[in-house]
Amino acid sequence: MSDAETLFEKIIAREIPAEIVHETENTLAFRDIQPQARVHVLVVPKKRYRNLAEFAAADPHGLAEVVATAAKVAELEGITTSGYRVVFNTEGDAGQTVFHVHAHVLGGEQLGHFGT
Ligand code: AMP
Repeated sequence: MSDAETLFEKIIAREIPAEIVHETENTLAFRDIQPQARVHVLVVPKKRYRNLAEFAAADPHGLAEVVATAAKVAELEGITTSGYRVVFNTEGDAGQTVFHVHAHVLGGEQLGHFGT
């Protein structure tokens, strides 16, 4: 990992505040500061990987844990039945802005068919 620390490491270290909704040994889930849906939670691995490709290649079990945490967040938010979307924006065309891999969990309302 060559580039600079991101703000998500600071959230994981509790150096900057976030509204944490769930935590496991290796993952943290917190509300997005600019929600794009009624429910918008980010799930991160505590260990940093730049993006989905690096994460999947280096730590597939960790990726499975992040996805399982996303499903748990949906359950905690009461949207398992109504439905939700899990998105990994990856690099430029997808609009990734924070280079610590994260899953967006979006729901709580009818979502557009594409995009967030
Ligand atoms: P992405 O564009 O996929 O990299 O997503 C980064 C997300 O992080 C955006 O949806 C931002 O709104 C969100 N974000 C940025 N700063 C914070 C913060 N301090 N706390 C929570 N979410 C944040």
